[in-house]
Amino acid sequence: MLRRFETLLQPTAGIPAAPPNAGLADFYWHFIGQARWFAVSLFAFGGSIAVLDTMIPTFIGKVVGLVSTHPPETLVQDTWPQLLTMAAIIGLVRPLTFLAHNVVVNQIVNPSLTNLVRWQNHWHVVRQSWTFFQNDFAGRIAARVMQTGPSMRESLVMAFDAAWYIVVYGGSALFLLGSLDWRLTIPMAVWFALYIVMLSWFVPRLRERSKTMSERRSTLMGRVVDSYTNILTVKLFARAADEDAFVRQAVDDHTEASRAQARMTTGYTTTLMFMNASLIVGTSTIAIWQWTTGHIGVAAVATAIPMAWQLNNIAGWVARSITTIFENIGTVQDGMRSIDLPLAMPDPPGAKELRVSGGEIRIENLHFDYERAARPIGVLHGIDLIIRAGERVGLVGPSGAGKSTLVNLLLHFYEPSQGRITIDGQDIATATQESLRTQIAMVTQDTSLLHRSIRENIGYGRPNATDAAIERAARRAEAHDFILGLEDWHGRTGYDAHVGERGVKLSGGQRQRVALARTILKDAPILILDEATSALDSEVEAAIQSQLDGLMDGRTVIAIAHRLSTIARMDRLVVLNEGRIVEIGTHPELLALDGLYARLWKRQSGAFDAVTSDTIRIG
Ligand code: ATP
Repeated sequence: MLRRFETLLQPTAGIPAAPPNAGLADFYWHFIGQARWFAVSLFAFGGSIAVLDTMIPTFIGKVVGLVSTHPPETLVQDTWPQLLTMAAIIGLVRPLTFLAHNVVVNQIVNPSLTNLVRWQNHWHVVRQSWTFFQNDFAGRIAARVMQTGPSMRESLVMAFDAAWYIVVYGGSALFLLGSLDWRLTIPMAVWFALYIVMLSWFVPRLRERSKTMSERRSTLMGRVVDSYTNILTVKLFARAADEDAFVRQAVDDHTEASRAQARMTTGYTTTLMFMNASLIVGTSTIAIWQWTTGHIGVAAVATAIPMAWQLNNIAGWVARSITTIFENIGTVQDGMRSIDLPLAMPDPPGAKELRVSGGEIRIENLHFDYERAARPIGVLHGIDLIIRAGERVGLVGPSGAGKSTLVNLLLHFYEPSQGRITIDGQDIATATQESLRTQIAMVTQDTSLLHRSIRENIGYGRPNATDAAIERAARRAEAHDFILGLEDWHGRTGYDAHVGERGVKLSGGQRQRVALARTILKDAPILILDEATSALDSEVEAAIQSQLDGLMDGRTVIAIAHRLSTIARMDRLVVLNEGRIVEIGTHPELLALDGLYARLWKRQSGAFDAVTSDTIRIG
């Protein structure tokens, strides 16, 4: 029965829209609007419960009035319709309304809205540019994505309930007391005025402090996760004490922010406590005084005092709720700093699918610099290069020359500041990034695998690849044999074995071979090898090299390598230095030129005396 309600809101249905990037209210509405009927029900049931709760002191007063004005023998006979109505409201209507409210909160809003917000936030954030992730802690982004859902739900549910209690209970209490005797409303009216003043002073301050606290919590999470992610570096450098200091600082900052917020909460609740005490004492004093002067009866006294007492309880509850609401709003505001941002580098309007026939790459007058707070220094300065369809080009140059940057621009991870890149005559800036990256396969030096099975990791290269295709790719990458011998900590073996976070359960060379298999399976017309065989021993490298040669056939290839022997046999070598092309030619031509390449080669061949012309296979 309850399950039927649970399926009314599906967190992962449909394609989410990007958050509005227009402030807190719009951010809330972006999500609540998707569950608006549940929000309306929540609001309606919350209001009904508040009205029903207001009736309790009135009923107490009524019963006391009936008991004191009817003789015991005829009490039930004379008053049963009123008694029955009150019993039905308290015994049936109130629990049923609570049930309806709880079904909306527990069955629909709590699980579904929370995860709808998380899912849609993740959906948006994961589409952010690479730079976005480079500029932040992964842990902090994850914390924000995870916390925003529950905080938004909590603040919404509590705000509805609290608003109703204050409006309905306060309003009806004033009305009922006023109908008994106007003087009884004086303490409550004064209390209300003070309550508003108190809220308007405390709430903005609470909100500010909650936001600071939440920011510091995300930073703390970011630092903790960063330590765990880089645990090998922490251990290798025996920097546990420094790491402690780094995290301790974040813990101390968070503690300070929590204390500042707690001071505010204590001040707030104490003020309220005194106001409530004055309300009860004031209302009781006026009620007793009015009874002694004969202005009101005993039933009115019996209504007024519990009403003041209940308002006291409700005000305490509302005060605690408001603290929690603003804590949660602070968390949502902190989350918005990572989530409620437009996508950096979206596809331009009308972007087309890139179609590759041959794979000719033209780089025209390309200038680029990374975003820097300080003065731009420039990384690439006017690169002009044509790579013919099917040509194999080696990219060479000293460290920091801009080789990876050039490749990342080809993948459209960044926008050039000037110039353009075309593939088969289509400007990559006007193509969809997804279609561009589908046409390019890349193997990098720093191969991190997904924390999934070997099969899923290789299959990532092509959706719906058959097991046979995956195995074929693994054989070509010389990975099949070692894969068969794998067993993970859950006893899964071979292609089903999981590889650990970022593939840490494999050796560097094994990781590289799995990555190579993934690339082989992708079968893209343009191939980029960025130090693709650097982690392999010479024997495996030699074995893979022949496979790579086969893989390169008919494709446009850009290979980056510091070990020049691995790329010397390319059709052409392009030498980059300080963001400029300084030499272009074949290996023998560049040696004859006796420039930067020749110098680099000589330096390496000293160390590579053993490399024979056979393994280099120049030309
Ligand atoms: P290596 O051979 O060492 O990999 P590379 O030739 O590939 O070097 P790039 O990685 O392209 O060089 O770096 C070129 C310059 O750009 C370097 O000065 C580097 O510090 C800078 N750089 C690289 N990535 C970033 C980044 N994300 N933000 C700012 N500067 C960067």
